[in-house]
Amino acid sequence: MQNELPNADLESPAPVLPTPAPAPVKLTEVSSLTLEGLTRFLTEELGERSFRAGQLYRWMHQRGATSFDEMTDLSKALREKLKQRAEIVPLVKDAEQRSVDGTIKYRWKTRDGRYIESVYMPSEDRKTLCVSTQVGCAMACTFCMTGTLGLKRNLTPGEIVAQVHAVNREVRKNEGLETLRPLSNLVFMGMGEPLHNFENLKTSLAILQSQDGPNFSHRHITVSTVGLVPMIERFGQETDVKLAISLNASTDEQRSKTMPVNRKWNIAALLDACRKFPLRQGRRITFEYVLLRDFNDTDEDAARLIQLLEGIPAKVNLIPYNENPGLGFQTTMDQRAERFRELLCEGHVAAFIRQNRGRDIAGACGQLANRGGENASESSQSPELP
Ligand code: SAH
Repeated sequence: MQNELPNADLESPAPVLPTPAPAPVKLTEVSSLTLEGLTRFLTEELGERSFRAGQLYRWMHQRGATSFDEMTDLSKALREKLKQRAEIVPLVKDAEQRSVDGTIKYRWKTRDGRYIESVYMPSEDRKTLCVSTQVGCAMACTFCMTGTLGLKRNLTPGEIVAQVHAVNREVRKNEGLETLRPLSNLVFMGMGEPLHNFENLKTSLAILQSQDGPNFSHRHITVSTVGLVPMIERFGQETDVKLAISLNASTDEQRSKTMPVNRKWNIAALLDACRKFPLRQGRRITFEYVLLRDFNDTDEDAARLIQLLEGIPAKVNLIPYNENPGLGFQTTMDQRAERFRELLCEGHVAAFIRQNRGRDIAGACGQLANRGGENASESSQSPELP
């Protein structure tokens, strides 16, 4: 053996060692960057001129491009460079279910073989998408299907935004529309607790609200939280979109039973944060109240709710409970729900019964969950939607 080191004669040429494989370069997830972040990446890391960032950003976030090859006004060389150094993290459509009321539930497969869901809800005057912010959820509300999963991981800003791009594409195709962004409204009420993934939520909002991106108005985006009190304050300071609070109870005893977060920040602490919340003129905080039969839907509950909300510019959305088998709660009867609403209105609290969308496809509030999606072999067979 010519190059065996131990016997190597000093005169002989240096041994030829196998060239080590180049260390894999970690690709930068460019679909998760704000325009500022992307500009920094392109100029500092790739040595490109800054206007290229705007081009790339508009491809991703105005047109929803999912590959560099589509970006025909970027030079071939730049597209190749991007492929070497950057990636647009995809969400692959795995399944869809259509409700008789026009609601469509989409299930996406993430790159690491997880599943998340988004729900499209068209109505006469708006096209709303309900987006997810986490795979699973750590909040463990006892009536909620996602809550039974536990938290698997946070979604990246790119994955949050990708739900919007993908559904825009679907709506264009299904409804034969030319407009780049047929969706008009976004609600962060899908899987996960948005304020528990605050940095990525914030970045996704920056992208979704940007003029070079989908350009959603702050008036058309609502973020719903279980009530992570310290984050509500930051949310008010650092974003300008609308706030919804999942109250769901009229006493601490009730709320702590169904929403473990209440043991840390009780109703008084939560409403105190709401009172301090910097509201834009004319805006109100939405309080969601899931009606659970004989649990939180009595006349006394309505009276207590009126008291609790005193002094807060509030609107109450009464949500008919979507029963999840095995979780042990029942839906309030329509008549009781209507009476509850009337009582609130008589107490000068604006209250509405939320229309129940996609109930026949388990696409309604609190029914998004997926137990089949942990590993790749199952996923390739497209398990039934729950
Ligand atoms: N984590 C956030 C957003 C996701 S849940 C939050 O808690 O606000 C969105 C809304 O659906 C919440 O108001 C929640 O209370 C409600 N919800 C959960 N499960 C439900 C169910 N089975 N039926 C009706 N509403 C439900």
